[in-house]
Amino acid sequence: MKSFERLCIAAHYMRARMRGRRWTDRAALERWQQARVIRHLERIRETSAFYRELWGERPVSEWEKYPIIDKQAMMEGFDRLNTAGISRDEAFKLALAAESTRDFTPAIGHTTVGLSSGTSGSRGLFLVSRRERLAWAGTVLARVLPGSLLDRHAIAFFLRADSNLYGTVGGGRIDFQFYDLLNPPDQHIARLNRQRPTVLVGPPSMLRLLAEASRSGLLRIQPQRVIGVAEVLEELDRRFIEEAFGQKLHQVYQCTEGFLGATCGHGTLHLNEDIVCVQKEALDEQSGRFAPIITDFSRMAQPIIRYRLNDVLTERSEPCPCGSVLLPIARIEGRCDDILTWPALSGAGMVTVFPDYISRAIISASELILAYHAVWAEKERILNISLEVKQEAVAAEIREQVAREIAGLCDRLGCRLPELRFLPYTFEPGARKLRRVERRASS
Ligand SMILES: [Zn+2]
Repeated sequence: MKSFERLCIAAHYMRARMRGRRWTDRAALERWQQARVIRHLERIRETSAFYRELWGERPVSEWEKYPIIDKQAMMEGFDRLNTAGISRDEAFKLALAAESTRDFTPAIGHTTVGLSSGTSGSRGLFLVSRRERLAWAGTVLARVLPGSLLDRHAIAFFLRADSNLYGTVGGGRIDFQFYDLLNPPDQHIARLNRQRPTVLVGPPSMLRLLAEASRSGLLRIQPQRVIGVAEVLEELDRRFIEEAFGQKLHQVYQCTEGFLGATCGHGTLHLNEDIVCVQKEALDEQSGRFAPIITDFSRMAQPIIRYRLNDVLTERSEPCPCGSVLLPIARIEGRCDDILTWPALSGAGMVTVFPDYISRAIISASELILAYHAVWAEKERILNISLEVKQEAVAAEIREQVAREIAGLCDRLGCRLPELRFLPYTFEPGARKLRRVERRASS
């Protein structure tokens, strides 16, 4: 059975590699996508009661105008949406038991069940059939492995929760090891020194900690590829990680809703439009910021159709030198929930402040800033900023400089400067996802 699975993965790997070079222009890709989506939706209409009712009598040719759903709608309609006949209660029970025992092999029959971390407390469930699991593994390997599938690879994969989805990529010439983010860093470092991974995958906050260990000589590994997942990659962390490992930092854009993008050899993130169709809900026309509405035309067990993701993406304005027609993304900026609105200087209007504006203002204040965390407390209307600086003696000066940069930002945007409060920096990578700029109801 195992060797059959490996063959399937290899076939999907080959297909994904070939698809990457298949289209010479966007129009050809879009025609191909359109045909795939329509065929897929016809099947979904037959098998998913949720979507059948949602779409009513409207023909699939009008799918681009079908109602948009989000995580909440997906979770509420879970039982009738999925085509594996699995109830939400049953799936939750299984996934939660896996979390507490840290034995991540839950499956109902051949269907893998998983739970997303859900930064806002609303946790999402995912279901993946065996065929989809193998296709996922093949596609991920095609997009992220340096060299060929036939080479030997050792993958160290850091995540908050494992899943037998991820383990699928291991076996044969691939030594795949899951590192539980909840374990202490010392333990990770000792284990990494033994495994000597060629591919290191993890959230940027953990990669940053490992980069620090590498600089201090505690961690002695030379990965050929370093990949950030599951958290927004900030420029400050990118620079630090790249310098420590002497590598370009790659990114995988993967969430409960699917494998959505990966960086090419040039380090540009491209959306996986060969498996997912992405419509753009414009957030800011001028800068090209948008929230993606995704339609996955490969997943059957848990169909994802016209699903709005809570992410802010910025389209890259120039094409990527790699020649791929898959949409290049300049930046994933975090969640739509972290977009701030501050009162305008004139009139009663509000001004949109994207998380990246705050990041840039802080980073540009001083070269001596090593790390930061900015939390907007909506109720108190205070921006709490914590900074880690290289030289504690000049910390007060740097704080003043940061305040000046934020004031300058408000000037440019035409909004009122809120109260700023500086706090000591604390962040331990592990259970919590790091968002360098976040909005909270209250501090
Ligand atoms: Zn590219």
